[in-house]
Amino acid sequence: MPQKRRPQSGARPPRKKGSKKANVLVPILILMILVLLLVFSFALSGGESSENQSETSSQPSSSENPQSSSQDPSGSPASESSETATSPGEETVDKMDWALILVNQTHILPDDYEVKTADSFNGKEFEYRANEYLKEMFAAAEADGCPMFLTSAYRSKSYQTGLFEQSVKTLMGQGMTREEAEAETARNIAVPGQSEHATGLAADIVNPGFFNQHAELNEAFANTKQSDWLLEHAVDYGFVLRYPKDKTDITGINYEPWHWRFVGPYHAKKMKEMNVTLEEYTQMLGLS
Ligand SMILES: [Zn+2]
Repeated sequence: MPQKRRPQSGARPPRKKGSKKANVLVPILILMILVLLLVFSFALSGGESSENQSETSSQPSSSENPQSSSQDPSGSPASESSETATSPGEETVDKMDWALILVNQTHILPDDYEVKTADSFNGKEFEYRANEYLKEMFAAAEADGCPMFLTSAYRSKSYQTGLFEQSVKTLMGQGMTREEAEAETARNIAVPGQSEHATGLAADIVNPGFFNQHAELNEAFANTKQSDWLLEHAVDYGFVLRYPKDKTDITGINYEPWHWRFVGPYHAKKMKEMNVTLEEYTQMLGLS
């Protein structure tokens, strides 16, 4: 009531002018704050959406849709998100982490380790998933004029134990103690549980005529075109040279140009780029 009367009083003009200014300024300030808040929240929602997209592929885009419908300007980030939502799909690529199992002198294969194998070349068995890649690799090599020969693949732990025990008994029959015989045998035959061949992921590969010239596997294979082909192309099929010449201090195994290990194309490429062994690579990943 008093406010209504004031305008009618004589002293009102200066007050009215002042209050008019305030009445105009306040809404402008409120508008500016609102605009700033809108811009700020818009920028924040844009930042959040890009972070989420890198972690998960489908959820962020669906959770953003409600925002885009309630706010006009968020139409553009929504269209961005639908574009980037397709690229994170690459993260669903199977990295085949199961193929990174490390078996060596200090990483013994558990007794209950189970391997599902499939028929491979030359009557051998290979881990059934890796076998598909081995088949493709051999076919590609043959098409390039480099036919391959699979001389050893999956060897069960019990088979390895049999090989080992047979050698120990033979040496003991020659007068060695069991300790001496085991030590001597371990120089040539992997101790059961320490052979990568028990995983079904290791393939000993040579050229078809190799054993016509050599009684056993040796470094001469490194001088064949098959070896050259494998060094160049095996990575594409997920295989790495497991015991390189310059890494024997890390692997603890002599140079074996014939022994190729499946780790999957994703990890094989990374390992080749970084020039690391499976020992180094699994350590980098915190797996060993
Ligand atoms: Zn081997």
